[in-house]
Amino acid sequence: MSLVILKFGGSSITKKADNKFEMNYEVLHRSAQEIKNALEKNLKLKIILICGVGPFGHTNVTKYDLNNGIKTEEQEKGVQITIKDCAYVGSETVKALEKVGLKARVIYGNEICVQDERKVVSFDLAPYKKVLEEGVITITTGTMVPDNSFRWSVMSGDQVIAQIAKSLAPQKVLMGTDVDGIFTADPKIDVNAELIEEINKNNLEEVLTKCGESKAVDVTGGMKGKLDKLAKTLSGVPAEIFNLLVEGNLENVLLGKEIKSTKIKL
Ligand code: ADP
Repeated sequence: MSLVILKFGGSSITKKADNKFEMNYEVLHRSAQEIKNALEKNLKLKIILICGVGPFGHTNVTKYDLNNGIKTEEQEKGVQITIKDCAYVGSETVKALEKVGLKARVIYGNEICVQDERKVVSFDLAPYKKVLEEGVITITTGTMVPDNSFRWSVMSGDQVIAQIAKSLAPQKVLMGTDVDGIFTADPKIDVNAELIEEINKNNLEEVLTKCGESKAVDVTGGMKGKLDKLAKTLSGVPAEIFNLLVEGNLENVLLGKEIKSTKIKL
């Protein structure tokens, strides 16, 4: 078996940039077809899919102030609305996979994960193991989960990746987003931003220096923080960040073919 954790970033499968509560069906349906193609070509491939939720999560979290402890009825209502909205992203993704003939099922984060002050304290992996044996693609989205101190707190898609990466020994983590990978600066803002093709322990300092050169000093801090977080998320599992908006990328990266991306081994 060759287990891959695949992430659909909220920026690619939802209308995150427009801050709309809408799925990007064009990307979702094409991605489903590309997964199907890859599974047909590599019969050993198994996929656990993690979905970012874009505005379905963060708009609600901001509106109802959901990540600093739940104290009011209004916030409690906001939690339930957010869980429902995040579940919608999961069910739309299941529908897209089923439409191309794949078997898919949502594993709901709020039923398997408990946090304390926003940190995961328990995470039940049994449902993932069971479903993998059945040849079904599981989908977990970011959502609100029970929190021992805060009543509820945000569990991001990346927190799910962290749990699975450290426990189920995936071969790699593939993160689809709306740009080609990690750049020396935000490519949507800085036209001189350069794609970093590889980040590893040996070139980490060099990469951070390069990022620092392009903008103010805190860019390095920001990028360092991001990479530190990513390193913790990945637990040594190799990762590749790629553009899910480019047709063919997903099928190729699932099959281990070279595409434009950032490869990470931290
Ligand atoms: P997702 O929702 O797909 O997980 P995010 O929205 O969190 O992705 O991150 C992707 C966005 O990050 C890109 O659209 C890009 O504009 C922005 N970004 C900021 N800095 C960088 C950088 N140094 N390299 C790549 N993208 C960056």
